Amino acid sequence: MNYMPMDKYCAEYMRYLGIAKTERRSYSESERLLKAKGFKEISAFKTLKAGDKVYRGYEGRTIMAAVIGKKPISEVGLKVVGGHTDAPRLDLKPIPLYEKGGTLFFDCHMYGGIKKYQWLTLPLALYGSVVKKDGTQVDIAVGDKEGDPVFMITDILPHLGYDQAKETRDKFFPAEDLDVVAWVSEEKAEKGKKDKDEKKKVSPLKKSFLDFLKKEYDLEEEDFLSAELEMVPAGLPKEVGFDRMLIGGYGHDDRVCSFAGLQALLNAADEVPEQTASILMCDKEEIGSVGSTGMQSSFFENTVAELIERQEKNARDIMVRRALEKSSMLSADVTAASDPHFESLDSTGNAAKLGKGVAASKYTGGTSKGGSSDCGPEFVAFIRKVMDEGKVEWQMAELGKQEKGGGGTIAQYMSRFGMKVLDMGTPMWNMHAPWEITHKNDCWQTYRAYSAYLRA
Ligand code: MN
Ligand code: MN
Repeated sequence: MNYMPMDKYCAEYMRYLGIAKTERRSYSESERLLKAKGFKEISAFKTLKAGDKVYRGYEGRTIMAAVIGKKPISEVGLKVVGGHTDAPRLDLKPIPLYEKGGTLFFDCHMYGGIKKYQWLTLPLALYGSVVKKDGTQVDIAVGDKEGDPVFMITDILPHLGYDQAKETRDKFFPAEDLDVVAWVSEEKAEKGKKDKDEKKKVSPLKKSFLDFLKKEYDLEEEDFLSAELEMVPAGLPKEVGFDRMLIGGYGHDDRVCSFAGLQALLNAADEVPEQTASILMCDKEEIGSVGSTGMQSSFFENTVAELIERQEKNARDIMVRRALEKSSMLSADVTAASDPHFESLDSTGNAAKLGKGVAASKYTGGTSKGGSSDCGPEFVAFIRKVMDEGKVEWQMAELGKQEKGGGGTIAQYMSRFGMKVLDMGTPMWNMHAPWEITHKNDCWQTYRAYSAYLRA
């Protein structure tokens, strides 16, 4: 099997990570890469035959792509590598603008699990889309281009403030104060001029910003009501450490696994597989896989039905159900690597080690395996064989000690179809921090693992 070498793969991944700052941006970059490899949107196919390269997206935030296999999906199911492309961040509230002490702020709402204090005094970039009443979409991307301004949440100086012995910084800083400085300039009122803004009691500060918003983006304040605007850490991914073996950047969770799946599918697309090989890059995992683009939606089932309909011209409900039960999936999500300074939180002897390869987890969840799918030993044995035959460096791991927490992935939702699902992804440090850290070998082994599975 031909793989991209590690350095080339990691350079490609870092390029993607710098672009894919939001799920929508990940979607458009992934779609571009799929099209470049000859994948076509599903509506372009009346029928699907072995070797066809097809994708189906939904609402610009979730995407499934497949290389059609020789055998009918309704008989043998399909293989899926499923990751997510949303990441923890701060979303602008629907009514985001407020003034305090002569400064105009963006009022923000947390998306996904964050340690609040990590987001203070950090350069932030603003990405997203505003949809106006007439349907026009205005895209905003500020903070990462040369010469762009950035945004910031302020913190108090060490000379003043709270009793550090009594309060942890995270408790001290309420979520409602995670608000971003937007604007400080006041427009000087023209002498004697009384316009309608004065009647609406818009302050010179706010008027000054709204004038800018109109001029720069042709937007009114009310347009924020129908917007999806995300504050994310500014800056492009960087190599970390003098030996350059680590990658630091925003949103490794879970773009590191999603991208590995995408590259594995692109890598596998030159051969016609026996069983259809596919990937999922889904949305809303960080808030519980909810919504029309999360994996609790019907998107996956509907897409499988669309594939069967085109492959066999008769996607009866029972065929879709049989296909799903015959399918298997690697739930492509990150896990925690043991941090040398926090070893007391590790599951003894079962913690993933950074740099030692892609990590499989038979179950995720917290104490008592709650919220996990607990993969059966038969599928684990199959994956062991595939990994070892593919000479993939991999390890078995649990996320954290019992009674110390835990987390979920999309595995539990996918296993409801009767699919065999094993969690397998990149171990990392600093998960959910503004800048997370992965090891180049682990990123590469993740890509090799998914390639081996999709071709098995
Ligand atoms: Mn994740
Ligand atoms: Mn996560």
